[in-house]
Amino acid sequence: MAKDYYKILGVDKTATGEEIQKSFRQLARKYHPDANPDNKKEAEEKFKEISEAYEVLSDPDKRTTYDRTGQVNFGGGGSNFRWEDFTHFTDFEDIFNRVFGSFGNGSMFTSARNEGPDLDLAVRITIDLEDAYYGRKQSVRYRRNVTCQACKGSGSKDGVLNTCRTCGGTGQERVVQGQGFFNMVTVISCRTCGGRGKIPRIVCQTCHGSGSVSATESLEVEVPKGAVNNLKIRFKGRGQSYHGRTGDLFVVLSIENRTDFVRDGDNILTKEWISFPEAALGTERDIKVFNETFHYKIPPGTQPGEMIRVKSCGFPKFKGSGNGDLLVRVQIEVPKRLSSTQKELLEKLLSEQDKKRFWQKT
Ligand SMILES: [Zn+2]
Ligand SMILES: [Zn+2]
Repeated sequence: MAKDYYKILGVDKTATGEEIQKSFRQLARKYHPDANPDNKKEAEEKFKEISEAYEVLSDPDKRTTYDRTGQVNFGGGGSNFRWEDFTHFTDFEDIFNRVFGSFGNGSMFTSARNEGPDLDLAVRITIDLEDAYYGRKQSVRYRRNVTCQACKGSGSKDGVLNTCRTCGGTGQERVVQGQGFFNMVTVISCRTCGGRGKIPRIVCQTCHGSGSVSATESLEVEVPKGAVNNLKIRFKGRGQSYHGRTGDLFVVLSIENRTDFVRDGDNILTKEWISFPEAALGTERDIKVFNETFHYKIPPGTQPGEMIRVKSCGFPKFKGSGNGDLLVRVQIEVPKRLSSTQKELLEKLLSEQDKKRFWQKT
């Protein structure tokens, strides 16, 4: 009778993936050999057993096979589980970084990820704030790797590819180093074939076997109205090409600031200077935002530094429709020089105020 993985992990046959993981994590903490210095040997056995059970039950395919037949075939080891078959090293990192701070002596994992080259490409362009205000089309030139036409991307002059001998066609190399109790297992892209599993019989001279050549490309980017800084615009299939796979291009926007006003989300912030009689009596102003002119009122009795909100005259909203608001910080100018008439009038005003204050106080 094969092992009862459910019993080993202490879960029901109907347990969810989450329950299985939870139980595994608890048991892994309990039976980690570093946590059991007095009966290390026993803990090692138990630890391997729960890892095996977890390897099977956490994988829907393996679990189904196991439920049906009572056994599972592991990659290279047939029905016998070996550490090399374990694909959840990241779980350990997760668990033990928290529990032990770091791995104890001789028990160390390197989680392995076998990634092909990153085929996505990012190109940053700088646009004026005005372009973001109105939206516009902008042409972009950039370089990328495209499929080599000479070999149609195969990298092979005659199109014939042989299975890579180093990795036997898997595209992966497993670097195993003895480190005491655990082996340090690292899976990397095969260095002979670059992770492809195949190598050209005769190397294409145009692309030197890579299957792609560098080319200058251009395209039109539609900068949307209300575009925000660092906005990424995606162009599917316009990134790097590598052996028949093509990534995406991301055009990233850098939006330049202006000196006369500041964009604050959907709002526009600006300042306006008025004289103190205007502040006292109220006044009106025009403001130009790019090609738009907005008219607004400053009410009587406006104080220095007060903010006037002009509804819906701000920046076009990136999400949703309409515009944000225009926020005007009112500054009051105090004249440094006065004509004799002005002086006279102001003195009159002052004496008026004195009288008023006097009557108010008494
Ligand atoms: Zn080629
Ligand atoms: Zn290879």
